[in-house]
Amino acid sequence: MTRRDVIAAPFLQLGRKAKPAIVGSYVMDAFPLGHKLRDHAAFPAAKEERKVPLVIVGSGMAGLSAAWWLDKRGYRDFVLLEMEDQAGGNSRYGESAVSAYPWGAHYVPIPNRKSPLVRELFEEVGLMVNGELNERHLCHSPQERLFIHGRWQYGLEPEVALTSKGREQFRRFDAKIGELHATGRFAIPHALGQIDPNLEALGFPAWLQANGFDAPELMWYLDYSTRDDYGMALKDTSAWAGLHYFAARDHDDKGPFTWPEGNGWLLKQLKAKVGQYVRTGEPVYKVQRQNGAWRVLTSKASYLAQSVIWAAPSFLASHIVEGAPRAEGFSYSPWVTANLTLDRIPKAAHTAEMAWDNVIYGSPSLGYVVATHQSVAMHREQSVWTWYYAVAERTPDAARRMLLEQPWEYWRDTALADLAKAHPDIADCVSRIDVFRNGHAMARPTPGFLQSAGRQKMLSGHDGLYYANSDLSGISIFEEAQYRGVEAARRVLERLGASSGTLRSTPR
Ligand SMILES: Cc1cc2nc3c(=O)[nH]c(=O)nc-3n(C[C@H](O)[C@H](O)[C@H](O)COP(=O)(O)OP(=O)(O)OC[C@H]3O[C@@H](n4cnc5c(N)ncnc54)[C@H](O)[C@@H]3O)c2cc1C
Repeated sequence: MTRRDVIAAPFLQLGRKAKPAIVGSYVMDAFPLGHKLRDHAAFPAAKEERKVPLVIVGSGMAGLSAAWWLDKRGYRDFVLLEMEDQAGGNSRYGESAVSAYPWGAHYVPIPNRKSPLVRELFEEVGLMVNGELNERHLCHSPQERLFIHGRWQYGLEPEVALTSKGREQFRRFDAKIGELHATGRFAIPHALGQIDPNLEALGFPAWLQANGFDAPELMWYLDYSTRDDYGMALKDTSAWAGLHYFAARDHDDKGPFTWPEGNGWLLKQLKAKVGQYVRTGEPVYKVQRQNGAWRVLTSKASYLAQSVIWAAPSFLASHIVEGAPRAEGFSYSPWVTANLTLDRIPKAAHTAEMAWDNVIYGSPSLGYVVATHQSVAMHREQSVWTWYYAVAERTPDAARRMLLEQPWEYWRDTALADLAKAHPDIADCVSRIDVFRNGHAMARPTPGFLQSAGRQKMLSGHDGLYYANSDLSGISIFEEAQYRGVEAARRVLERLGASSGTLRSTPR
């Protein structure tokens, strides 16, 4: 950004008078229905009665992965119920005349050599061919850049701000991560590795202090990382989770896989395989025991099932499922995602080639991802930017209250003010801003959560009902959702396989 740009910035705002107002609204608000479920509100009586051996609740990546795994093994007698009109949960996406764009999950890193399930799916959908990456789906260069001290640099480690102390600590931190990775204990999904109980019970700040890490540039980078992956501040994160972010991945210069619609691309692939089982617009409001089976109630149908996979967030179960443990120790980070439609690219952006992921140093937001980045068109005037903000500076309860109270205009102005730090003319470029507020978006890996009694109870399941949401992993990523869904499916198959024939299904 030049000095002239800085001086011109306030006057550019004046120019907005001539420009039509930015339109938009909140989209996909789930809390009215969520609160109805929590408060046991009345739902219309179901007209349809069905017997089916298995009901899966929740069509996020966990529920769809359970369906994928069962279907592959020839087990096809189940339904998958989703409360929203669109399947996919946190991997949903939107589309406009300009581009498809994500509402949540937007990439998957190159799978580790020892992540068999992810590799199996990626081979099936053509992301990998005989173990080799399909380059067409890899993020184009430049991938990441950071706006710092009034200019862009490539990569997210704040190179231009590094003091000699900071540089030494980054080097030492990298070396430490290399050592931890080499132990093989940090895996993805993490159940394939081994959790050090002391590290998991410890706060990340205590570990950093004990290991002599305190340089502000490194602290910013690590705090950005925990906000980015877990939606929570470094100070609230367990040492194990803070390190897992870095130590669990095999290093690969390539990747990640990404698409305009983010992980909506993977969602489409899974829906093509198992969409026939999915019934959207069917919130499950009660799951109760009945003569040794499960009665699953929605306003459209009443299902009698031998087994249930609860792939909806775990905390909801105690409000809906008879005998469900209270989700003690589970906590969730609230997120806001805004999709901005740009009629033209901001001028200052041209001072450095736009990256896919663009982060502003010192900002409470996580910056923005460019939906049109993967486009092969050489020159595009229009674009969609997805702006991410985990409300990590407040407690989750306080953040959720704020999400409910603030009008759409608050997020319009917050997003524009944040982006204006790097793009002073952003308000003149944007014609539309849609905002998604998600109160219980991601599980938070607080110290001790993975060893908590509350989580252990959920992992066990009860009476043929198995929990499968990615929140059981404490880490909200595609690979964990897939693992949890498949684990629950394995257990169901063991159980139903042993007693098949006791409950006959009615026709679909
Ligand atoms: C802003 C954001 C960005 C993210 N970015 C990434 C990323 O880039 N890469 C990545 O790998 N991961 C990312 N994630 C993590 C993402 O959560 C996981 O990748 C994954 O999509 C989680 O899937 P899930 O099935 O466990 O849960 P969810 O996606 O939460 O699915 C649960 C489903 O259950 C449904 N449901 C709830 N209650 C009921 C009910 N009573 N009846 C019927 N249905 C019900 C919900 O509507 C939902 O569809 C991101 C998450 C967020 C919030």
